[in-house]
Amino acid sequence: MFGRVPKKSDNTKFYEVLGVPKSASQDELKKAYKKAAIKNHPDKGGDPEKFKELAHAYEVLSDPEKREIYDQYGEDALKEGMGGGSSSHNPFDIFESFFGGGAFGGGGSSRGRRQKRGEDVVHALKVSLEELYNGTTKKLSLSRNAICSKCKGKGSKSGASSRCYGCQGTGMKITTRQIGLGMIQQMQHVCPECRGSGEMISDRDRCPQCKGNKVTQEKKVLEVHIEKGMRDGQKITFEGQADEAPDTITGDIVFVLEQKKHPKFDRKFGDDLYVDHNLSLTEALCGFQFALTHLDGRQLLIKSNPGEVIKPGQYKAINDEGMPHHQRPFMKGNLVIQFHVIFPESVVLSPEQCRKIESILPMRPSKHLTDMELDDCEETTLHDVSAEEVKRRKEQRQHRHREAYDEDEDDDESAPRVQCAQQ
Ligand SMILES: [Zn+2]
Ligand SMILES: [Zn+2]
Repeated sequence: MFGRVPKKSDNTKFYEVLGVPKSASQDELKKAYKKAAIKNHPDKGGDPEKFKELAHAYEVLSDPEKREIYDQYGEDALKEGMGGGSSSHNPFDIFESFFGGGAFGGGGSSRGRRQKRGEDVVHALKVSLEELYNGTTKKLSLSRNAICSKCKGKGSKSGASSRCYGCQGTGMKITTRQIGLGMIQQMQHVCPECRGSGEMISDRDRCPQCKGNKVTQEKKVLEVHIEKGMRDGQKITFEGQADEAPDTITGDIVFVLEQKKHPKFDRKFGDDLYVDHNLSLTEALCGFQFALTHLDGRQLLIKSNPGEVIKPGQYKAINDEGMPHHQRPFMKGNLVIQFHVIFPESVVLSPEQCRKIESILPMRPSKHLTDMELDDCEETTLHDVSAEEVKRRKEQRQHRHREAYDEDEDDDESAPRVQCAQQ
């Protein structure tokens, strides 16, 4: 200040805003701006005005030419020297020139002016096991937002827009309210006037095709290739095909395969196919053959080995008749058949027939009771109980038990629970 001509205009404010001395180096300016900008970023609940001020101060001081003018003549000189319009850089652009789009992890902000990533659109795509076995192509018609072809996403005829008055172009508004003595709550919300875009288009200038929305609805047909062997839950991604928006990297459309339950086959443990098959007792004992229609329509002849007896619940497998392996469809899993043996409903065997069967099958364990022992036994009769009846009895019992337990709980609410700790 010594010996200088006093100036009307203030030339220290920008240094104060950034909190650095007038002698600060470029490096110091950079550091100071970075620190303060992160602290005051509106996405982190900072004050948008302060954020803008920081950007503006840094923009001027980081430019040696502008800094010199500012140092000598102050802010007003800069405005005059630059054709009236004060620097009109978006504060977010300046911020992002430092940090890139992902300053706060992914850049999920809804502000319009910034290059952010649009959301992915995820659809479930139901497919049958046959389609996963054979592979198929599905054509799906979707509607999405596309950048207006007439205005190229500007929203206006002339391509001009002005800064929104409601939010000064930040797209966000801060409201404060007193919530208690000396306590003020600050709330940040998307500017209702510009819906977060930070700009306004005059009614006259609105693009007639998109009505100023910048985007229009578009029908799009996607061909989804379902490859042989793909699985339930697998994703098929169409990169950059989701809704378009100005200054936004378009997100992906993602289809997640959802396999419908098959009435016969069950895919398990990777590429194996499981199928249940019922055999009559006679088939289980004397042999069987049957045709099994596979997922591609082929008929497989399934037959027992000569003389082999099949036990209830027994598994048998056929190699390479399971699902094709995805990306290596010439490799296949196994087809596993579980056999269930259905006993005849009401068969009464004569003593003669019993003797015949006994002559073939392993002998009955000889449990001959002596007359003496028989005399000591009480006579009983067996009658039928269906599986349903057993189930019903079990449920009734559980119900009664629960009721009794609840009563217990009520009774000794205050009594300490003593448990036997032995073994
Ligand atoms: Zn606004
Ligand atoms: Zn348009």
